[in-house]
Amino acid sequence: MSRILIAEDEPRIAAFIDKGLRSHGFMTAIAADARDALMMAIEGEFDLMILDLGLPGKDGLQILEELRGQGEELPIIILSGRDDIQTKVAGFEGGADDYLTKPFRFEELLVRLRARLRGREDRTVSEEMILKVGNVILDLRTRKAKVGDRTVELPAREFTLAETFFRHPGQVMSREQLLDRVWGYDYDPGSNIVDVYVGYLRKKLGSKLIETVRGMGYRLRS
Ligand code: CA
Repeated sequence: MSRILIAEDEPRIAAFIDKGLRSHGFMTAIAADARDALMMAIEGEFDLMILDLGLPGKDGLQILEELRGQGEELPIIILSGRDDIQTKVAGFEGGADDYLTKPFRFEELLVRLRARLRGREDRTVSEEMILKVGNVILDLRTRKAKVGDRTVELPAREFTLAETFFRHPGQVMSREQLLDRVWGYDYDPGSNIVDVYVGYLRKKLGSKLIETVRGMGYRLRS
């Protein structure tokens, strides 16, 4: 199981990332200021760090410089509201592995994070990368689904929704939970997009796979 350090001082964003990553099987810890971020990155044995640039105490670029200056090779993805090219270049030159600007979709963070972890995870048995319920299989590395022997292509958002269900078989997921985990914190909660996408998954993966729990949400049959 990969351990992710979230260096983010905005509680709402930190909680959003934290919750999303944990629901996808990661272990997480949050550092809310520069001092904790530096200390935890060096001592905490994490597999990857998500680094906000605007942290109390020190600029994120400076944190990056200190870590790399000490030979710390922890993969780092910068997650920042700063989208000017100078800062991006400084981030990459400072040793960041990737750079994602806010506002962001959780799904994109997840894809980039997995790409950064992939080299490390190849060492371990990849059982966690295959999720199976009944005759449906999700392969998290190829991001393809299989129903029996048939391969099914799922666009990114549908795959992430399917994965969220497959992580919680038999558990009722509310529309709010699904919106939050798949579409991100900035999505309109009044939207019926969850219902529309559940419909897509039923069509592609099997009409009985996901059941509607009246007044509560949806549940993947286990
Ligand atoms: Ca900040």
